[in-house]
Amino acid sequence: MTAEAAILPFPHRHLLGIEGLSPLEIGHLLDQSETYVEVNRQAEKAKSSLLGRTIVNLFFENSTRTRTSFELAAKRLEGDVINMSVATSSVKKGETLIDTAMTLNAMHPDVLVVRHPDSGAVKLLSEKVNCAVINAGDGSHEHPTQALLDALTIRRRKGRIAGLTIAICGDIVHSRVARSNIHLLTTMGARVRIVAPRTLLPTAADRFGVEVFTDMREGLDGCDIIMMLRLQTERMHGNFFPSIREYFKFFGLDYEKVALAKPDALIMHPGPMNRGVEIDSDVADDFGRSAIREQVEMGVAVRMAVLQILAANLPSTDPRNL
Ligand code: ASP
Repeated sequence: MTAEAAILPFPHRHLLGIEGLSPLEIGHLLDQSETYVEVNRQAEKAKSSLLGRTIVNLFFENSTRTRTSFELAAKRLEGDVINMSVATSSVKKGETLIDTAMTLNAMHPDVLVVRHPDSGAVKLLSEKVNCAVINAGDGSHEHPTQALLDALTIRRRKGRIAGLTIAICGDIVHSRVARSNIHLLTTMGARVRIVAPRTLLPTAADRFGVEVFTDMREGLDGCDIIMMLRLQTERMHGNFFPSIREYFKFFGLDYEKVALAKPDALIMHPGPMNRGVEIDSDVADDFGRSAIREQVEMGVAVRMAVLQILAANLPSTDPRNL
């Protein structure tokens, strides 16, 4: 780390994950995001902190909200954005990734926002390019901006994160959202529970610094936040539960299960939702208790903050760029 970087509140070139970030660094990202929430609620939203910067959204895996959210965030900061959806070749995935990265790198982008179906692929790519890289989701590894937007939503609704009991429920084993949230929420002092059928729990789940439950009635008991996860069938090879009907009965969030949490417990879901699978439609749309739409709103503010902070950290001239 250079002497200049040492005094930066977020002294990193990339945002590849939440793991390893300090409470101060996470707090700084959340504070900066907070400033954009109000900006986004005004008719005049544009700020020029990315003027002259080029942001490339490079998505090797489908996405609706994350890609749109990054695009909107960059545009609101007057950056130039291009979206690239790259169809993956299952045979030469590694080669395609690096080739694409090197090609883009030669065009001197400032920030690459990358989603890839393989865990670790975004880090690999970040080692090959000169610009800042943001992980927009790599396999079942991390999705740092999702965890930040979840934390911002929680902090705004509950006034704090430390001391809250947060139950993350459902398909934990395949979920990058769960992993990033576990890192963030435990780092910020929350008590985290993971609740899932045994088949959807990661091996050595107890080493994550969380409490592990296989029964929703116990896992939701007295919690402040219920965070539901999508069943990620695209990552499942084999049968992980007997049927959707049975899954919903035992692990789907309905009002009966909501009643086990605190009366003011907040309901969250990163989207896209499988209504009637992991969450009952009425519960998802219960605007008194569900923060699902607010999560989407916070996503834009968080991505504005992350883009702005990483762009500001870039050296004005990178000697390797010459
Ligand atoms: N949108 C989130 C992700 O990309 C959650 C999900 O897909 O279930 O990981």
